[in-house]
Order: sequence, then C-alpha cells, then structure tokens
Amino acid sequence: MGLMTAQEYRDSLNDGRIVYYKGRKIENVATDPDLMACVETVAVDYLMAHDPKYKDLALVYDEELGENISRYNHVPKNGEDLLKHLELIIKATELGDGYIPLAHDIGADAMNAISITARTMGDAGKVYLERIENYRTYLKKTDKCVVAGVTDVKGDRKLRPSDAGQAHPDFHVRVVDKNDEGVIVRGAKVHITGAAYCNEFFAIPCRAMSGPEDAPYAIAFAIPANTKGIRQIVRPFHGRISDMEFPLESPLRRMHTDSLIIFDDVFVPWDRVFLCGEWKMAATMVYNFALMHRRTGCAYRIPLSEQLLGVAVAIADYNGVSDAPHVREKITELVIYLETLSALSRSACLDFVNHAGIPVPNPITTNIAKYHFAHNYHKVCEIIQDLAGGLLVTAPTYKDWQNPETQEDIKKYLQGKASVPTEDRLRMFDLIRRITSADLETICLHGEGSPFAERMTIFMEARKIIGRCKGIAEGLAGIKK
Ligand SMILES: Cc1cc2nc3c(=O)[nH]c(=O)nc-3n(C[C@H](O)[C@H](O)[C@H](O)COP(=O)(O)OP(=O)(O)OC[C@H]3O[C@@H](n4cnc5c(N)ncnc54)[C@H](O)[C@@H]3O)c2cc1C
Repeated sequence: MGLMTAQEYRDSLNDGRIVYYKGRKIENVATDPDLMACVETVAVDYLMAHDPKYKDLALVYDEELGENISRYNHVPKNGEDLLKHLELIIKATELGDGYIPLAHDIGADAMNAISITARTMGDAGKVYLERIENYRTYLKKTDKCVVAGVTDVKGDRKLRPSDAGQAHPDFHVRVVDKNDEGVIVRGAKVHITGAAYCNEFFAIPCRAMSGPEDAPYAIAFAIPANTKGIRQIVRPFHGRISDMEFPLESPLRRMHTDSLIIFDDVFVPWDRVFLCGEWKMAATMVYNFALMHRRTGCAYRIPLSEQLLGVAVAIADYNGVSDAPHVREKITELVIYLETLSALSRSACLDFVNHAGIPVPNPITTNIAKYHFAHNYHKVCEIIQDLAGGLLVTAPTYKDWQNPETQEDIKKYLQGKASVPTEDRLRMFDLIRRITSADLETICLHGEGSPFAERMTIFMEARKIIGRCKGIAEGLAGIKK
C-alpha cells in the first residue's frame, strides 16, 4: 500500500468503531460535522507527505523496502535525524495553522520507547523486539495513523495499581486472561488525543510498577480502533471558531478531541503484545516515552509561541502603544520565551544520548524546554491579555458587526490607531481569545506530563552535574576528598 493519501486516510475511518460524542453514537467520524474538522487536521500529515516541497523533511528512503516511508516510522540514527523529526513536527503544525496533525508523531514516540525497552531487556526482550520491529514494518507499509494511550484513569493516585485500597482493580489497564493466541485486557485510558479518528493506538503503562503484584499491569500492545470490546467517550475541544467570531477563509480544521478509551475484555494477539508482566521494565518504557514525547511537545509549541509573540506585537501596534518602554519590555519577554524554547528543543536533538543503541534527545535539555514553556505559559498569556486591554472580553461580537444598525458605531468607537481598520483589531481579539483559552492553558501545563514530572526528571538526570559542581566548589575551597 505504501504512503496513504489524505482521502485513503479519511475513508479508512469508516470501520465500525464505537465512538460516543456529545451524548450520541457516531456513525462515521470522518463525516460527522464536528469530528471531520479534526480529521482534516490529521490529513495535513498525509497531504504533506505527498507534496514534493516537503519530500526531504517528511519522507525517508527505506533501503530494506526499497521505497519512501514516513520519517516518523524511521528509526533515528543520529542527531540530524532527531532534528529533522523535530523540524517535521514544527512544519506540520505550522501548516495546520497551529493545530497539530499528529497522525504519526505520538505513535512514533511510543514505538521507539517500546523498542528501547525491548533492547534493554537483552535476551528476555528478543521476542518483544522482533514483534515491535515487525509492527514498525507494517506501519512503514501501511502508513496508518497511530496515537498513544499512556495515561490510565489511575483512581487514587497515591495507591499502586494493585493496591487493595483502590475502589476496584481496573484503574490501570491490566491483563485478566491469557491463552495460546494472546491476552485479554481490561481497564481504561484517558485524555487520549486523536483516538477517535486514528487507525490504531498503542497502550503502554503510565507509571513504574513497584512489585510482582503489579505484573498484570505491566502490559503494552497496539490495537486497531475498531477492535471488539473497545469503546470511546470523546471530549470536544473548544478550539472551534464560533459564529460570534469573524469568519476565516482557511480550511476547516480545529484542535483535537481527547478520548476516554474503555477496554472491555479486549483480545490482543501475541504479535501485538510488546510487554506482558515484566513489571520492572514498565519504568523504562514510560520514561523513554515521556522523554521523546516531551521533545514532540516542544515541537508543537514552537509555532504556538510564534503565534503568541505575533498577537502581542500586533495588538500593541493596533492599540498605538508599541513604542512605550513597558510594552517593549513585555515584547522582549515573549522573544526570550520563544527563542529559549526553540534553542533548547533544537540543541536537545544535536546533543543526543544513546538509549540501548537508539539516539534520543538530551533528557535534561528536553525536560527543561518542556518545563520552560509550560511553567511560563500563564505569564505569557498575562502579558498578552494586559497588552490587549479589556476589549478582549467586552468587545461586541461579529453578529453585532454584521448588523447595519450597530456596525458604524463599532467601526467609529472601537478603532485604535488611525491606520488600522477596526475590523482588524476585532479579528485580533478573536485570535487572542482562542490562543490564550483555558483549554490551551491546561494542555500546555499537563500535556506530555505535569510540570512536577519534568522537575523530577531534571533532578534525577542532573545528579552527575550536581556532583561534579559540588566537586568544583570543594576543590576551590581547598577541601580534599
Ligand atoms: C489536552 C490533553 C491531552 C493529552 N493527551 C494525551 C495523550 O494523547 N495520551 C496520553 O497518554 N495522555 C495524554 N494526556 C495526559 C497527560 O499526560 C496527563 O494529563 C498528565 O500526565 C497528568 O496526569 P493527570 O491528568 O492524570 O493528572 P494527575 O496525575 O491527577 O495530576 C494532578 C496533580 O496531582 C499530582 N499527583 C499525581 N499523582 C501524585 C502522587 N502519586 N503523589 C503526589 N502528587 C501526585 C500531580 O503532580 C498534579 O499536580 C493529555 C492531557 C491533556 C490535558
């Protein structure tokens, strides 16, 4: 089959999957008026792969298959590969107007994390390594859209998956039975972005397991979205342009939906099982997924940060205050925010480390980059909201603009700087409201892991640096060790 076209991707979604959305069961996600806007966002990845302009970025020639494959399905060999992977996600997000295509990127992070885990296991991992690399070949040949279900519903966060204090044993996906053909799994994953309109998803543990009692929860697999026993309840994302806002001519796209995926005694054949009971290895898998996915998250947020800087500069100009010293100071803050994220994300690729023979982005730099944009995002929004002024929330709507009885008043009284039409100023307020919304604030904070998870990783990974610096200080103080 080779590289999928955007139309083949749309057609592939009409497969009998069970998806509930806004209180009703959806017949075909690709034609549902709401969900099709998300499908079109994913389709950007497929359009890009067939556009000669992006060939070098989006495709890699695979020697074994003798054909071009998606770069996402290629095992990175060096820092340059990691950097191109980053640039591909940045470009795809730009082409999606800041909406993330995600047909392959999250799936690739899970696939590489599984491969690293199997390699780390030595002989015990050989069977898993063969299965995951066979699965990779299948993806190279079919170009399916695959997302990752990592986050379990978890129940009481302080308790282990198997702890008797949990209200029931199914808060983390677990194996409830096994036979010669495969395993039966039960549980639920939550917040799974794009699951409603992917072809398949990975399910991998979301935490380290601390003893043999948790072995049934150490389970990783890949499964088609229409498999018997799987149902999804989908949360809409409010990234949509409402009829109260100025309309745009750009293609129909929107941010993604996130699914609660229920695995109701689902059969998974052995060739799709990549970890089963090796509880000590769950930590390796989730750690490597988080590392690679935080790099992916940074790539998503570089175009967003450019948009944030752009709206701040534009609205300050439209309000006529660009030259005020405090405004220049605030714009400088936003430049530092963007350039720090961009430089750290790119240098993390070039300053890579090897995990079981696969180059991965530098763990400390990646976590600092991700922490930087999450931790400072609210501050950035505060600056933009400050520069925009109160009209951001009190301006009349597009409906009032359309009304001939009110348009002239709005035009006359809501103009800022003389050279900027009032409509442009109002359009900019619409955009600011969309890109500083509470939904985006939450995804910037929690997407790819909560800020505390990044700080913990930074501290853990920096132990060598901390020890070395202590040695420097002791040497300078004349302390002999
Ligand atoms: C929009 C969005 C999209 C997402 N997409 C995906 C996706 O595609 N795939 C996927 O797998 N996941 C996805 N996630 C999940 C994301 O990785 C999680 O939200 C994140 O890991 C935090 O987990 P949580 O939401 O369960 O919060 P919680 O774990 O409940 O965290 C809430 C707070 O409790 C604290 N806390 C949690 N556990 C403990 C503990 N044991 N001890 C002390 N403090 C604790 C945390 O530090 C945090 O402050 C997405 C999240 C969002 C918001």
